[in-house]
Amino acid sequence: MNIGFIGLGIMGSPMAANLVRAGHTVVGYDTSAERTDALAVAGGKSAGSVAEAVAQAEVVITMLPDSPQVEEVAFGDDGLLQQGRQGLIHIDMSTVRPETSRRVAQAAAVKGIRALDAPVSGGERGAVDGTLSIMVGGAAADFAAVRPVLAVVGTTIVHVGPAGAGQTVKAANQLVVGGIYGLVAEAIVLLEASGVDPGGGLDVLAGGLAGSRILDLKRHSMVRREFAPGFRIDLHHKDMGIAIAAAREAGVSLPLTGLVAQLVAAARAQGHGSLDHSALLKVIERINQ
Ligand code: NAD
Repeated sequence: MNIGFIGLGIMGSPMAANLVRAGHTVVGYDTSAERTDALAVAGGKSAGSVAEAVAQAEVVITMLPDSPQVEEVAFGDDGLLQQGRQGLIHIDMSTVRPETSRRVAQAAAVKGIRALDAPVSGGERGAVDGTLSIMVGGAAADFAAVRPVLAVVGTTIVHVGPAGAGQTVKAANQLVVGGIYGLVAEAIVLLEASGVDPGGGLDVLAGGLAGSRILDLKRHSMVRREFAPGFRIDLHHKDMGIAIAAAREAGVSLPLTGLVAQLVAAARAQGHGSLDHSALLKVIERINQ
């Protein structure tokens, strides 16, 4: 397929490279020319603008930081909805507000463009290995049409509902992940303050009912206080904001999510925004100093 790929960062860059490797023609654009050039080295084509990236595309994937960037790329004068061909399918794989996805989908429909929101979980490792989990919102027929493309970058791929539903599932994912990080941090602080080896303690937790992917993957680095990202606190702060906004829109109260959002905000305020989200441990430690 002819695929336009916009946003070639930590996630987008390896995802685009995997699509090239699978035999697709990928025309990439990023505001950073360095990142666009890197795609050309990986066998893709570099575009100098959004318009150029979408001109020949049957599918356009966006992997951008947040809602404002997605709106700029979609609604801009030279943007995707102006320049895309009729029948084009836009897959936004960024994590943004469900409301943004619905607005993009509505505006796209007016132009004869089909839109899916398809945020991911699995981090940089999953992007490199092509093993992301992908939660897709939009029309079932559009999902079916691009499933083979999504299968190149992910392994667990689920159509979860209409436009915006993918982002709502991602918000749920992020509030669970943030909460578990906070609780693992509290467990480490409790074990150490009680004179119990946190390594051995967490090994037992990982094998029992408290076991989780986070304990499997991150307990050793957390105990060693290694916080190289990974997934940055800054991005998780954005995602907790999305979860809170989604809860408000749905008219529900999520008290634990509110608390976790404040802890993530504290990590950022303490200057840890560029550390991995497991650095929530630093906040719990500081509360106890
Ligand atoms: P990133 O900052 O590394 O990449 C974003 C890229 O978009 C950058 O290269 C930037 O130059 C480019 N960009 C920004 N504005 C642009 C514009 N207007 N036009 C073209 N390019 C533009 O971020 P990332 O880590 O790749 O994350 C991308 C999205 O995926 C975010 O929404 C994030 O929350 C989500 N996500 C990230 C991870 C992770 O582990 N990093 C995991 C799951 C989901």
